[in-house]
Amino acid sequence: MVKRNTDKDLLKEKGFLSQRQEDYFSMRLHAAGGNVTSDYLRAVADAADKYGKGYAHITSRQGVEIPFVHLDYTDTVSEQMNAAGIGPGASGKKIRAVVACQGERVCKRGLIDCQGMCEKIDVLYFGKPVPYKFKIAVTGCPSSCLKVQENDFGIMGFSEPVFVEENCVMCRQCEKVCSSSAITIDNGSLYLHRNKCVSCGLCVQACRRDAMQVKEQGYTIFVGGKVGKRPRMGDRLLRTENQEVVFDILEKTLEYYREKALEGERLGDVIDRCGIDDLGETVK
Ligand code: SF4
Ligand code: SF4
Ligand code: SF4
Repeated sequence: MVKRNTDKDLLKEKGFLSQRQEDYFSMRLHAAGGNVTSDYLRAVADAADKYGKGYAHITSRQGVEIPFVHLDYTDTVSEQMNAAGIGPGASGKKIRAVVACQGERVCKRGLIDCQGMCEKIDVLYFGKPVPYKFKIAVTGCPSSCLKVQENDFGIMGFSEPVFVEENCVMCRQCEKVCSSSAITIDNGSLYLHRNKCVSCGLCVQACRRDAMQVKEQGYTIFVGGKVGKRPRMGDRLLRTENQEVVFDILEKTLEYYREKALEGERLGDVIDRCGIDDLGETVK
């Protein structure tokens, strides 16, 4: 006879989220940055076949869930997943799994090593307690495929160009690739419009004459974003070329959030109540 564990909080800790069908759970598994190995996928497939309905669900935050696990099998699936080195996903008042795009390791537009940063952040912070919840995203360039502005803490790669006039042959390649219309060429002169430039670095990649060069490259940090019932876009906090500064700011932002948050507040709510300068002064 299988022991029936009906402690919903304990089950949630183990990644089992109650379904609308009585005694059935969707098992949330830990996955950072949307990267999982083939062994991970085989273990999930095996468990879904044996204890679910033969499919897995990919969540909006790059996580993996196995729906329709019956209460009687929750312990068995947990043991099987642990044996495969796959822990439960986080829910409740915790730092969630970090989401990230493929960044410079794979994507042609990538300006930073998103997956490398994601792995480091996940090791340091995944599952740690916070006043309400805390979501972190890393995206490789201003295209923001990972929507960093919708996260409590978002990291985005940037590359700001500088025009070196003496190398330019007016081939217009940079003008063609700039979808922000930040480069115009008129009467033999090239204009770089700073107010339109989003620092995607594509003009630097496109230029074969070294006439568009990198002025500054690194990380833009956004804070206080969230979606849900009361969405809020994150505030741009600062830019830095130094990855260590990003980690330092993340640690200080978490300290600030833990110290300042009232019951049920996300970081964005704290910023709305105390002002972005309050956070800015603390972390800088
Ligand atoms: S955000 Fe940029 S680097 Fe990341 S996947 Fe999108 S285009 Fe590529
Ligand atoms: S791509 Fe380079 S060489 Fe061509 S117009 Fe732009 S800056 Fe000049
Ligand atoms: S960095 Fe991007 S937005 Fe800025 S000028 Fe170059 S191509 Fe345009």
